[in-house]
Amino acid sequence: MESDDFVLPGTELGFAEEFMPGKGTYEDDGKVYSAMTGTLKIDMKERKIIVEPRTNIIPEPKVGDIVIGKILDVKQQFGVVRVIRLLGNPRELPDTIGTIHISRAKSSYVQDISMEFSGGDIVKAKVVDIKRHPISLGTVEKDLGIIKAYCSKCNIALELENGKLKCPNCSSIESRKCSSDYGNGNV
Ligand SMILES: [Zn+2]
Repeated sequence: MESDDFVLPGTELGFAEEFMPGKGTYEDDGKVYSAMTGTLKIDMKERKIIVEPRTNIIPEPKVGDIVIGKILDVKQQFGVVRVIRLLGNPRELPDTIGTIHISRAKSSYVQDISMEFSGGDIVKAKVVDIKRHPISLGTVEKDLGIIKAYCSKCNIALELENGKLKCPNCSSIESRKCSSDYGNGNV
């Protein structure tokens, strides 16, 4: 184990004769274990191990960050998003809700936002305002938008075929504001 490693309760961290168990750890039968989900910190000078709780290290979304979320609901003027995590960071954000206003869905005029997003879709969006809650998101850029969508009839993942989203089961075609990364899965 090294400093900054992500640890879970019960993760073995080292031997008690080498390291003094500090905050967030416990000793059992000569070994030191993590008592919580968090980040390991090894103090080589003091020869002490502590675990910082995960809640202290969860990143706050900032303006300009790219986030991955799930569309919870689509209203007349905006989509409601449960922000799951920051792009490139596997840690889940706790209870973060965002909205994508109809004017921030894409670069062209949107008349009906239900043609762009649908409940259950996975979306890649940019944080545009965090002053209020829910935070504001946008999907105007080409690489932003829906990265995974489901057939409204069969609930099966739609496949991108010649620029159209098609259900592999019932062949129905659906419309979304898709990200250029749709279906890549590497987000
Ligand atoms: Zn279908």
